[in-house]
Amino acid sequence: MDFKDLADLIFPNAKPVEYYEEKYPSRDLKEGAVVTRVAPSPTGSTHIGTLYQALVARTIAKQSEGVFFVRIEDTDTKREVEGGIDNITSSLNYFGLGPDEGMISGSEEKGNYGPYKQSSRKEIYESFAKKLISEGKAYPCFCTEEELTADREKQERIKRRPGYYGVWAKCRNISPEKAIERIKAGEKYVIRFKSPGNEARKIKVSDGIKGKITFPENDLDIIIIKSDGLPTYHFAHCVDDHLMRTTHVIRGDEWLSSVPLHIQLFEQSGFKAPKYCHIAPIMKNDNGNKRKLSKRKDPEAGVSYFAEIGVLPEAVKEYLLNIANSQFESWRKGNKDKSIEEFQFQLNKMSVSGALFDFTKLFDVSKNVISRLSADEVYNYSYEWANKYDEELANLLKDKDYSLKVFGIERNNSNKPRKDLAKWSDVKENIRYMFEKPTEFDFGKIDGDEAKKVIEEYLKIYDINDDKQTWFDKMKDVAEKCGYAREVKEFKASPEKWPGHVGDVSTVIRVALTGRQNTPDLYEIMQVLGKDEVEKRLKDM
Ligand code: GLU
Repeated sequence: MDFKDLADLIFPNAKPVEYYEEKYPSRDLKEGAVVTRVAPSPTGSTHIGTLYQALVARTIAKQSEGVFFVRIEDTDTKREVEGGIDNITSSLNYFGLGPDEGMISGSEEKGNYGPYKQSSRKEIYESFAKKLISEGKAYPCFCTEEELTADREKQERIKRRPGYYGVWAKCRNISPEKAIERIKAGEKYVIRFKSPGNEARKIKVSDGIKGKITFPENDLDIIIIKSDGLPTYHFAHCVDDHLMRTTHVIRGDEWLSSVPLHIQLFEQSGFKAPKYCHIAPIMKNDNGNKRKLSKRKDPEAGVSYFAEIGVLPEAVKEYLLNIANSQFESWRKGNKDKSIEEFQFQLNKMSVSGALFDFTKLFDVSKNVISRLSADEVYNYSYEWANKYDEELANLLKDKDYSLKVFGIERNNSNKPRKDLAKWSDVKENIRYMFEKPTEFDFGKIDGDEAKKVIEEYLKIYDINDDKQTWFDKMKDVAEKCGYAREVKEFKASPEKWPGHVGDVSTVIRVALTGRQNTPDLYEIMQVLGKDEVEKRLKDM
């Protein structure tokens, strides 16, 4: 009786690994093309970290004319939630990060290297585990939970490293005969990897993001097939990324410490290890403490939050590129109108420690993105958002022609559009005065009687048909008439001569019409409000 008999007993029907090697041949890609993936577990709403990894992985694949795929890692059935896969695939689609291959919905996939859902790959893992067992590189372990717990406690007590290794790896030297006997007797078991490592030896790894790192070799005999017959993450990663011909494993840096194990698994399986690239997580500043974004505490950790507050997916992606690559910002400055797809992303320029999530920066980026949209686009996006999240705004926007004029202010015919919208949830307060008469007025340094006089004088000469120059000249006329300086310049030269200048006069009109001291171009606002509404609002004042 030898290892081969043991392997045959455990996995009698497993196909030879050659079958899969042939079925999933090396990819025929141009020199230098990289194959990347994102491999989330369907454990709930999509985390911003998944999006971040997908963005980086996809960008790297695209710019090398390689392949980006989505694999669902659902071998931990206890953590899986209903609809989890749909959640991931639809989030990726929503953010324009759909894959070339892999899962595209809860039940569909595309591509020749599937199945792309680990729970559908059981037979494949069995083949590769069988090969390892038959070569004496993996073995059945019969240790019970109680035995393992007792060993762990003992290790703690006598201050030894925890884990299943060396003398603690009790089942690693059970002979095939004995193992066969115990299996036949109905004993429960898992399959463990027989690590050839020695903790005292070091290995050097060059991570695509973190750079050169030295680790102790792995010597843990980790579980590769659990008692439920499904693989652990470690083994599934090794088999899948080999067969799917992944060249670059871009993943969260919580896996960094597993690299020595993973490299060993690849070696022992006879595979070429991929290039590892470990991304630092997005962090949050919590009262001076830097911590990982948490779905429980931080709404921005869940990607659906951005749709809810109405930040465009494009803006979120652009923001993530900003925190991912320090040169992105200067590239954007020099390439204002280019698509982010044209930015040459460099993995080795990613930050080694986690970048902080910064709403101010996100909204800044987002304002720029929205400033590049046409009035039509702004209308369509905000109306669509409003129909989902804000009925009151949806009602305001019902009159499409008028709304388009409102969104066209300082946008149509402007080469420097205003940057006052960061998200669709800002729209209502931003444009409300264009739809409803304001109810609160603060004229600043001008008192009520003065304001009244200015409005009265203005009403006498207001004409909707005036061009902008005439309109402005009339403001100056009113200023003069009410005893204010016609020109800001002359006021500044001798401020003691006047109570204010033409700017203060237009502020009165602005506040009377909009309830605000700060608005986009007043001339345009008045053109859009129209003669009747302007006169009505001024008279009501
Ligand atoms: N399923 C693993 C996770 O959710 C993926 C790690 C990887 O990308 O390999 O963290």
